[in-house]
Amino acid sequence: MTSFERLNAYAEQKLAQLEASGQRRSLTETAREAGGRAVRAGSHVISFCDNDYLSLSHDPRVMQAAADAALKFGAGSGGSRLITGNHPLNSALEARLAALKGTEGARVFGSGFLANLGTIPALVGKGDTIVMDELAHACMHGGARLSGAEMRLFRHNDVADAARLLEGAPGQALLLTETVFSMDGDVAPLSELGVLAERTGAWLMTDDAHGLGITKQDNPAQIQMGTLSKAVGGYGGYVCGPAALMELLTSRARSFVYTTGLPPSVLAAAIASLDIIQAEPERTAKARRHAALFCELMGLPVPSSVIVPIIIGPEAEAMRVSGALLERGYLVTAIRPPTVPAGTARLRVTFASGHEEADIRAFAGALKDIMEQACAVTL
Ligand code: PMP
Repeated sequence: MTSFERLNAYAEQKLAQLEASGQRRSLTETAREAGGRAVRAGSHVISFCDNDYLSLSHDPRVMQAAADAALKFGAGSGGSRLITGNHPLNSALEARLAALKGTEGARVFGSGFLANLGTIPALVGKGDTIVMDELAHACMHGGARLSGAEMRLFRHNDVADAARLLEGAPGQALLLTETVFSMDGDVAPLSELGVLAERTGAWLMTDDAHGLGITKQDNPAQIQMGTLSKAVGGYGGYVCGPAALMELLTSRARSFVYTTGLPPSVLAAAIASLDIIQAEPERTAKARRHAALFCELMGLPVPSSVIVPIIIGPEAEAMRVSGALLERGYLVTAIRPPTVPAGTARLRVTFASGHEEADIRAFAGALKDIMEQACAVTL
């Protein structure tokens, strides 16, 4: 066998294993449009599963800002931030983010994933301890693993459990959580975690990927990261915190140093979006109203964010409900393990300001209908 053939055989075998364990995933072409609409594999659908919560990815002002910057400054940044990729729009965006979060500084990264991968190992290493919510995102796990620090997971949102794990923790402790949890839409007890960090000498770092532009929590965390890809509607990640830490990241965060700076168009779009988020709070209110209306129609508790999980349990059943929704023109992909814990396959339903109230009512009606037909599932 040639090396090429052995590689092919290796990939085929791994794919067969993934298939057998239900973990093989595949891509479907999706072209998003304004108003929560999309063309999915050629069919027109309304999406209730994307993270463009304030519908800013298709706001004409944001699109224009991106287009103008691309025409004026080029399509790419040409290098890493430390070489030629530090276009002035980076500092402008960082100043906006720091002002928004009330921190001394900010650093923009290539993505939220890269921000966590680079920041966590710049803060702690071998001999230190990371105490992290068990439901924290894969990129926090990734950053934690890369750091070499000892990792301890506390039960979801359980501050007493976090306190127990911090006791006698070797080295510097880093307490990690999300502000709004990506797959459940619930919020972290930030003020209690802030008090715990202060009492134990730990540093608190939060991932606000799903909170920015959606929730207004007082956040006592010394380190606040997030993404520009969700409510901001574009791409990129950021970390906000003390000025000295920002300088440290500039030298030490490997996912900052060794990757290309964001294209000027992406930076300009994010700045335009942040302007709109601040100037038009009604967008946030509208997205949240949609989530609340949906929960009311479904008989679910009042949501803390615009993410509402419908936990179905068995993967096949979640796929069936998702498929039935798609037949009626609603896109809500099923989220299955290992993205969520075993036995909790779900529809992760999300709401946006671009939806209309009639969309929410019709969608909830369709979902109820489908779920009533599924004898295995009760809300
Ligand atoms: N943190 C959380 C909680 C997320 O949900 C995501 C995106 N799925 C990320 C970080 C990564 O952000 P990005 O998409 O900008 O890489």
